[in-house]
Amino acid sequence: VKPMNCPGGLLVYKATQHSYKEFPIKVAELGQVHRHELSGVLHGLFRVKTFTIDDAHIFCLEEQILEEVSKAIKLILKIYKTFHFEDVSLELSTRPDKAMGSDAIWEKATSALQGALDQTTTQYKINEGDGAFYGPKIDFHIKDSLNRSWQCGTVQLDFSMPERFELEYIGQDGEAHRPVMIHRAAFGSIERFLGILIEHYAGFFPLWLAPIQVRVMTISEKYEPFAKNIYDQLKRNNTRCDTDLRGEKIGYKISQAEQLKIN
Ligand code: ZN
Repeated sequence: VKPMNCPGGLLVYKATQHSYKEFPIKVAELGQVHRHELSGVLHGLFRVKTFTIDDAHIFCLEEQILEEVSKAIKLILKIYKTFHFEDVSLELSTRPDKAMGSDAIWEKATSALQGALDQTTTQYKINEGDGAFYGPKIDFHIKDSLNRSWQCGTVQLDFSMPERFELEYIGQDGEAHRPVMIHRAAFGSIERFLGILIEHYAGFFPLWLAPIQVRVMTISEKYEPFAKNIYDQLKRNNTRCDTDLRGEKIGYKISQAEQLKIN
């Protein structure tokens, strides 16, 4: 039973030797994780005992932080847009009182995150002192159609894990150095994101996401072979479809399909 994916990413990195020329190295995993939640707090797809996290780890050089964080922010914003979440707010959390790593490296890392935010978005909030002890982070909050706010995505710098797992790469000088590690997730929990999506669309998914995209209906028994032919053609073209060949009135069939939110 594992609580998070990150150590897996670090072990993949450690499996072979690395040179500065390979950077950035990106390891992604849709990994299953667990929480020992009490049964009273379980809640639909929003709070469950086991779920899937889209955790990815980017190993890079200090001077690559700005570019890699910018790319991660753009990717995450693109994903939200694809799902029609237009109202996204970003928050940058900076050095807390108790933190590991020198002031200089925090300064550098925080200004790289801020630089990436300035490049990619018009507005964000700064949460002074709200970062994790192991590095500054950017959180993404989306608003669903009921105006509820959900924290989903995160881009996080980590000074701690590369140290603890003794990650190394061979630099231009032929010596061993420690790489920078960035955690990034767009969905957070895939299950929770699905829950948010279902609520956001009120069950009426956009065509490309809909479980049933097309329903073929007949107005009389006579047209059954024709309807089946249409259905076969749709299937062959990878459309998710079904048929309603019952001897019911067409108006009734349509209203039933509408109730089921079939596109
Ligand atoms: Zn991670």
